Amino acid sequence: MSDLADAARALAERTCTGKTLVALTGAGISAESGIPTFRGEGGLWTKYRPEDVATAEAFFRDPAQSWRFHDELRRLCHEARPNPGDLGLARMQADAAAHCESAVITQNIDHLHQDAGSTRVIELHGDIMRARCLECNATTEELPVPLEEVPPRCECGGLLRPDVVWFGELLPEEAIGAARRWSERAGAMLVIGTSATVEPAASLPLIARMSGALLIEVNPEPTALTGVAEFSLRGTAGQLMPQLAELFAHDLR
Ligand code: NAD
Ligand code: ZN
Repeated sequence: MSDLADAARALAERTCTGKTLVALTGAGISAESGIPTFRGEGGLWTKYRPEDVATAEAFFRDPAQSWRFHDELRRLCHEARPNPGDLGLARMQADAAAHCESAVITQNIDHLHQDAGSTRVIELHGDIMRARCLECNATTEELPVPLEEVPPRCECGGLLRPDVVWFGELLPEEAIGAARRWSERAGAMLVIGTSATVEPAASLPLIARMSGALLIEVNPEPTALTGVAEFSLRGTAGQLMPQLAELFAHDLR
C-alpha cells in the first residue's frame, strides 16, 4: 500500500467522523499555473529583489516603480488558471462537504483557490488584484490589467496601494485570527506547497498537530515539517492532488 493511499484513507477516516479538514497552502501550489515561487528558477523574482519593491519603504520611495512590479505580478495572476493541484483540493473540499466543514488558509495572493472552486478561503497575505486607498481606505478590484496609469489613484484622489501584505508588515488580524481558530479545530491538515518557515505559516501546522490533527505534507522537497507530519508526500501538487482527491473520494463512501 503506497503512502498516498494510506494518507487518503487516514484523511477519509478523520473527515467521515466529522473532523474539520483544513489546508494550508503556499507559493508551491501555484507554481504549475506559471506563477513562480521566490526561490524557484526564473521569472519575476530574479528580475526584482523583493526588498526593493515589496516593502512600505520601497513603495513610498518610488510608488510608480513598486506599482510596475506589482502590475507584472497582476498580469501573471490575471492570466493564470487553476492547475490540477488547485482543482484536486477544491474537489476534496466538495466531496468532504457532506461529512465535515473545511477551509483553505493560503499565503498566496493570486486567487487561484477561489477560481478552482474552493470555499472558505482565508487569505493571509491579501489579494494582488485588489487595491486600497491610502486616504479613504476604500478597496477596489476594478483596476485595468495592465494599469493605464501608474501609480493608480482612488476616486477620492488618494494614492492606491496593492492590498497585499509586504515584507515587514503585520498580517490582517481577522485573517490570522481565523487561521488560528481553524488550525485549532482541524482534524486533519494538508500542507501543500509551502516551506512552512515563515510565520505564521510555520506555526499553524504545529497548532493543528498539538490539537491532535493528522498532518499531511505535499511538497517535492523536504521541509521543516517533514519530521512532524504523519505523511510527507513527495511530488508536485499537480501530480499528487488529483490522485489524493480520487482515493479520498473512494474512501469516503
Ligand atoms: P514558500 O516559502 O511557501 O516555498 C514554496 C514551497 O513550494 C517550497 O517548499 C517548494 O519546495 C514547494 N514547491 C515548489 N513547487 C511546487 C509544486 N509544484 N507543488 C508543490 N510544492 C511545490 O514560498 P515562497 O516562494 O518562498 O514565497 C513566500 C511568500 O511569498 C508566499 O508565502 C506568498 O505570500 C508570496 N508569494 C505568493 C505567490 C502567489 O500568490 N502565487 C507567489 C510567490 C510568492
Ligand atoms: Zn480614496
